[in-house]
Amino acid sequence: MINVQGFNEGLRHNYFELLRMLYPSFMGEKNLDLKEEGDWAYLETEGQKQSIFLGDLDQEGKRLRVKQFLFQDLDLEGRVSSPFGILTGVRPVKLVLELLDQMNEADLLNYLQDHYLIEGDMAELLVDIAHFEKKAFADFTRDSYSLYVHIPFCPSRCDYCSYPMIKSSNQESLRAYVDTLVKEIGRFQGITRPPSSIYLGGGTPTSLGPHFLEKVLDEIVKIFPESPEFTVEAGRPDTLTQDVFSVLRDHRVTRISINPQSMQEKTLRRLNRQHSIQEIYDSFALARDYDFTINMDLIVGLLGEGIEDFRDSLEKVIQLNPENITIHTLSLKNGSKLFEQNQHLAASHFIQGALKESRTLLREKTYNPYYLYRQKKILSNGYNVGYSKKGTASLYNMAMMEEQESILGLGMSSSSKFYYPEENRIEKVGQYKNLRDYLGHWQEKTEEKLKLKEDFQW
Ligand code: SF4
Repeated sequence: MINVQGFNEGLRHNYFELLRMLYPSFMGEKNLDLKEEGDWAYLETEGQKQSIFLGDLDQEGKRLRVKQFLFQDLDLEGRVSSPFGILTGVRPVKLVLELLDQMNEADLLNYLQDHYLIEGDMAELLVDIAHFEKKAFADFTRDSYSLYVHIPFCPSRCDYCSYPMIKSSNQESLRAYVDTLVKEIGRFQGITRPPSSIYLGGGTPTSLGPHFLEKVLDEIVKIFPESPEFTVEAGRPDTLTQDVFSVLRDHRVTRISINPQSMQEKTLRRLNRQHSIQEIYDSFALARDYDFTINMDLIVGLLGEGIEDFRDSLEKVIQLNPENITIHTLSLKNGSKLFEQNQHLAASHFIQGALKESRTLLREKTYNPYYLYRQKKILSNGYNVGYSKKGTASLYNMAMMEEQESILGLGMSSSSKFYYPEENRIEKVGQYKNLRDYLGHWQEKTEEKLKLKEDFQW
């Protein structure tokens, strides 16, 4: 167990996250204790005790001193490398965006490496993405917002999934959900400002089937003015038909995501995804008739896969030539079947190399990295990167990740964020996370959202 005692709550959390990131094996039976006593911090593990003098350092000084010690001086067995140095947050580009206006590029790169101990090529990647995003956000005003609508249904549960997902074969729940969601969307009647982007995510929205999908999309286009970007996650190929694509096209959808996760048949079966590689090819070919911008997701570190499998999957996806490719690292949270089976450290040794290799290959093929984020409990301190061909980057992904405009979230589990740039403050409203609560009490959260919406000219 990792135990952090003393310090204030913020520092305790910070140190714990860094230790967990560097020494995930200490989350089991081995003990690692960090505590503050007087002017000193002490670190004790397996009979060894090390001390760090803190003297009269202020809060920021202590944070840096201890984190740099843990990162640079502590060298225990089982350490996992971290290209992000002592940064533990999930939004590293957001930090770089804040620094972009404060120093020139050379100073910024040095600062990221000296202060946060970020690896050189990662610092360059973060700065490149920050420049790209800054241009993309140039037209945002105080009243800009994007719309997110959540569909929690999927045809089956993937082994690594920890989301509150409901099987789409449960037609009774599906019908009740769509009816309620349509009511929630309808409560926003009167909005005149178009969202910068719309994102229908999940889950697998296309698992609603054409009839229920149409009901949801009808309401969205009725209530919200047209947006230049409208994404629907069409993630699972086993949910995609001509009828589904026609419904999407007829409701101003511009971008879809067809997510193989792997192009290895054996992996798909192991993940419980219930579709074949051929179905991925067929869905992709069908989608091409509809002129969507297409994103495809792959995951590094899937159980039973080595670097060769990942390389092969990436090459096959590149051959299809989608406009966007997103490379995720497997993240196993409590609640996923794989996590419960404790199979989460199995394939982790090649992850950092695979991420670097994919970056090089994708750049060669004219895909540029345009957003990046990390997740808690991600394998080997990996990260997720979205790549896009020129002119096809998703504004929603960037804005949502860097919290640069408000996000109005509708539907079960959705998270709304009302952004007040003048105070650099975000007010969050989370909708209920399970179906029964959502169906019974959605209005409470919706009223909160409607009230906050009055602070903006929508
Ligand atoms: S498609 Fe996504 S939400 Fe659905 S079960 Fe798989 S991981 Fe979970």
